[in-house]
Amino acid sequence: MINKSKAAWLLSLAAMTAATNVFAQQKDYPIQPVAFTSVHVNDNFWEPKMEVNANVTIPYVLEQCKKNGRMDNFLRAAKKLDGDKLSEFPFDDTDVYKAIEGASYSMQNKKNLKLDKYIDTLINIIGAAQESDGYLYTFRTVNAKKPHEWIGSKRWEKEEDLSHELYNAGHLYEAAVAHYQATGKRTLLNIAIKNADLLVNTFGPGKIEEYPGHQIVEIGLSKMYRVTGNKKYLDLAKFFLDVRGPKGDAYNQADKKVIDQHVAEGHAVRAAYMYTGMADIAALTGNAKYLAAIDDIWTDVVTKKLYITGGIGATGNGEAFGDDYQLPNMSAYAETCAAIGNVYWNNRMFLLHGDSKYIDVLERTLYNGLLSGVSLSGDRFFYPNPLASMFQHQRSAWISCACCISNMTRFLPSLPGYVYAKNQNDLYVNLYMSNTSEVKLAAGNVNITQTTDYPWKGNINIVVNPAKATAFTLRLRIPGWAKDQPVPGDLYTYLDKNQKPATILVNGKATTYSTEKGYAIIKRTWKKGDKVTLDLPMETEKVLANNNIKDDRGRFAFQRGPVVYCLEGPDNRDSLVQNIMVDKNAIAAANYQANLLNGVDVISADGKSTKRQLNSDALIETDQQVKAIPYYAWANRGPSEMTVWIPYEASAARPKPAPTIASTSKVTSSVKNKRMYNAIKDQYEPADSKDTNYPYLHWWPAHNTSEFVQYDFDAAHTVSESKVYWYDDGPWGGCRIPASYKVLYLKDGQWVPVKNTTPYAISKDAFNVVSFEPVTTTALKLEVQLPVDNSTGIHEWEVK
Ligand SMILES: [Zn+2]
Repeated sequence: MINKSKAAWLLSLAAMTAATNVFAQQKDYPIQPVAFTSVHVNDNFWEPKMEVNANVTIPYVLEQCKKNGRMDNFLRAAKKLDGDKLSEFPFDDTDVYKAIEGASYSMQNKKNLKLDKYIDTLINIIGAAQESDGYLYTFRTVNAKKPHEWIGSKRWEKEEDLSHELYNAGHLYEAAVAHYQATGKRTLLNIAIKNADLLVNTFGPGKIEEYPGHQIVEIGLSKMYRVTGNKKYLDLAKFFLDVRGPKGDAYNQADKKVIDQHVAEGHAVRAAYMYTGMADIAALTGNAKYLAAIDDIWTDVVTKKLYITGGIGATGNGEAFGDDYQLPNMSAYAETCAAIGNVYWNNRMFLLHGDSKYIDVLERTLYNGLLSGVSLSGDRFFYPNPLASMFQHQRSAWISCACCISNMTRFLPSLPGYVYAKNQNDLYVNLYMSNTSEVKLAAGNVNITQTTDYPWKGNINIVVNPAKATAFTLRLRIPGWAKDQPVPGDLYTYLDKNQKPATILVNGKATTYSTEKGYAIIKRTWKKGDKVTLDLPMETEKVLANNNIKDDRGRFAFQRGPVVYCLEGPDNRDSLVQNIMVDKNAIAAANYQANLLNGVDVISADGKSTKRQLNSDALIETDQQVKAIPYYAWANRGPSEMTVWIPYEASAARPKPAPTIASTSKVTSSVKNKRMYNAIKDQYEPADSKDTNYPYLHWWPAHNTSEFVQYDFDAAHTVSESKVYWYDDGPWGGCRIPASYKVLYLKDGQWVPVKNTTPYAISKDAFNVVSFEPVTTTALKLEVQLPVDNSTGIHEWEVK
């Protein structure tokens, strides 16, 4: 039931939403989202997360922006603070904009006068930092004696490269529009308009003809167009896309004209923002060529380049999309910003096509590879979101390149804007979460409420309250995961394809329904209090990956509803999970545990742990119970082992190391980060020297120095052979095989070189074996001379 004050609140929102749509465009998305201002989420799963965002993340990020010099950048540009010290990156202004954007959505969800006032103060400072002609970019305006090398000597000079002047502008516009829509205040919007007008006067045919080095201004300008009705912003957004390519780099999607791009390539965040911008402009202008390009790119991503978690951008090398089916787990990059970009893009694709498959990808990303970006506490963050770990990954309190942190801050409170959409008298229900909303259809206003325990339960109750009896069509999304199709295409499939169909009751009576583009269609004259009950088959599924993904062969992943699971150390024996195997046919049970990780379903199954032994290739197997938790909730209990993909074949398992001289030794090294030490004795042989999918030890960025690793044995042993597998990520990375190395042993407290009987060969992609006259000792040391211009690393060091 909705009380009087809430009704008044919703009414005022409806009025405000109407006010912001004063300038009705001729063209836009055929389907329109129901704005975040009209949807009030009161969900068991999401509301607490949005509360943590409001109460912890937003104040925390604002504080960190202050601590890390971002507010001072604006104060110095505004001449309110002396000196010319700037923070680290020319795009640091955007963290403040994104925090304001998040705060705006958040204040809409729940009033916060103190925050409102603080944001007003910030906007004042931002306004003062703006130059008189509208230019706003603190890194230039501060006029530092030693300017940042990315910014160029003149405005826009290095825009196509790394200055990020237009990237800053794009985030400014997004923040300004959100702030205006949430508060009705024009303060930030006026700053944005002044800046956008400068861009319109500066860029375009016959003016500066350059493309943005990091896309997002296209999205921002489309939003500015919608809010102001000023078409020159839309024209400029389109210009910024059309001027792109073909003479630039694939890295930022500038090696081809945008309409000639048909596969995803390059930096994943830049790409996702560009595809989103192309969708916006396709909708606003009816440009069919943009649409054809992003349709093809979408198919390329979902059939070849999408992690089961919805993450995109497989490789840290250029923060980029990898090759087809290149989806490594431990080294997965899957940047949080790219996941957020993937949500933006898929939402737009849905608004263009009205097909639920796009929301399937959006939902998968949202509950998994996006949500993993922030800790349950709200103040620790992942930049990459790996799918496997051996203690080397942890969320950070702050990252000097804070893009993912501020992006998470702004995304979470905007979630209510993704629940519903409408087209004339079609009302789309896309996401399932408890909420109360007001939707304006052509036929009249409809109040709609959802009550559910999604994603733990598949039962969803929807009450429809039209102002008066009204004919319209309710389109309920039947998720792909409930129809034996975890993702569109054949990248991932269920092991068992025997799901019960979704059932729908209307006012308690079973209803047969037709489906169209993945939606169950219920067309009728609705009256106050009509009740729809949707039951989705919430079962524990085992997901298999396409055989072309080599890293997932012989493995499966658990999934329940939209939630992907992982095994994490704290829930499993010896805190280890890489050595676990679970039979394909093992029966899995799910139980809700209210006190674990803020309340999660835990999946249990019988499995085995595997262990290597000496002098035999056979593994020692021990039965054990295996527990899986939702992937998004991992890494909230300290560093640990984790894996999403669980071996069902011994060949895929990574057994616990056998007790060799190396594996029982204590490692010391000139490398300071002790978390790398275990890597050299974990008995995982890499595919080649540049393989980053297993942990390795490295000395980067040191070069031209003498370094060491040392094994202190558990007792005296007689040894006569050393085998080293070097880490070398050339030609792009900073590590190469060493200039030279030698083996020393401890004799009467002194380090003595061994007398080698074979040469010290140094090569890539193989073990480098050196034999020496037997010595009996308690410690062995590898002395490594780094190359003059590069560093070196070690995958594995065995001794015998
Ligand atoms: Zn990021």
